[in-house]
Amino acid sequence: MATINKNFEKLAGGYLFPEIARRTELWQKDNPEAKILRLGIGNTTEALPEAVCNAMRAKIDALSDRATYTGYGDEQGDTYLREALMHYYRRYGVSLEATEFFVSDGAKSDAANIQDIFGKHNVIAVQDPAYPVYVDSNVVGGRTGLFDKQKLCYDGFVYLKSCEENGFVPSPPEGKVDLIYLCSPNNPTGAVFTHGQLKAFVDYALEHKSVIIFDSAYSEYITEEGYPHSIYEIEGAKGCAIEINSFSKFSGFTGVRLGWTIVPKALECEDAKAGVLNALWNRRQCTFFNGASNIAQAGGFAALSGEGYEQSRALVDYYMENARIIREGLTRVGLTVYGGVNSPYIWAKTPNGMPSWEFFDLLLDSCHVVVTPGAGFGPAGEHFVRVSSYGHRENVVKAIASIEENLRYE
Ligand SMILES: *Cc1c(COP(=O)(O)O)cnc(C)c1O
Repeated sequence: MATINKNFEKLAGGYLFPEIARRTELWQKDNPEAKILRLGIGNTTEALPEAVCNAMRAKIDALSDRATYTGYGDEQGDTYLREALMHYYRRYGVSLEATEFFVSDGAKSDAANIQDIFGKHNVIAVQDPAYPVYVDSNVVGGRTGLFDKQKLCYDGFVYLKSCEENGFVPSPPEGKVDLIYLCSPNNPTGAVFTHGQLKAFVDYALEHKSVIIFDSAYSEYITEEGYPHSIYEIEGAKGCAIEINSFSKFSGFTGVRLGWTIVPKALECEDAKAGVLNALWNRRQCTFFNGASNIAQAGGFAALSGEGYEQSRALVDYYMENARIIREGLTRVGLTVYGGVNSPYIWAKTPNGMPSWEFFDLLLDSCHVVVTPGAGFGPAGEHFVRVSSYGHRENVVKAIASIEENLRYE
């Protein structure tokens, strides 16, 4: 008699993006003439860099000839790409070995799968608000109690509140936690950790033998000087941190699929000496994963240096110009906004303490603009909405013009 993984039943109902889609569709049905302007989901919209496309075309040509055809590659990723990633990190003064990199089909699956190598009884801390996969993967993994609908929290989870008072960058927890998920630049708040703020977490983790899972998917969006792009810029971080990153937001690989995870050899935890966690993740990937697409890897390699890098940087600049347009437009309307300077996300405070789903409905109804209600990212996301700068320029301009025409707050 088969049974299901009951932990799925604990997942908070009405997952954020399906609920946005449901409300948007319903509204469109009642307003069939209206053109909806989307600043909601964080999905890239601009064409892949030319150099990346050329590299992928060349790879397809190689695959079309039996003399140069290759089948399965290494589960950890092709050596040439791991070495290129190693060089890429040198620009931040970070030196890692190729065998510390694990190439994957994206950061989201790595962020979900990484919990496989940790025990069931680890206490988990997340930044609140947070990218949903950190929480949901641990709910399914059985590391939480039930969802409290009043508090919008899972029992047994530690929420590190990120709010206006702390500039959306929390301090390390008071008590002992075992796994800590951090994301900088942050999705959804757009906040970035300084060296000092990140060092406080590294020191905490070293002291408590905790492990930090650091998501740096937006590191290339840092435009201001002086912020760490990698957690390994912090002394001691190799002993306590895993870093996850992706080509999705840097080079437009959201559909191509390619990411990487770094598990340093020096990483330790309570019952694992240096080398053990690196070997465990290696084992996990070799057992459950058959490697990222070789076409995607050829494209990723091209994105890391030379023309491909410059063209990827230009993509980031394009989205950051959208971010500027959004940030300035919303400010003129009288809203209080954060982020959008070192991140493609603008975190806008709802007017007059309005609940975030109510503001979502208002923006849809009166401006025909879709944003993401902050409450969907955790309890501290209430009273904020996330506005995404992923979109064609002309649509972003239209959306902001519509908001400026229809809303005004003093
Ligand atoms: C978009 C995003 C990713 C990237 O996920 P992929 O699976 O590589 O596309 C990772 N982390 C965060 C916080 C993101 O917003």
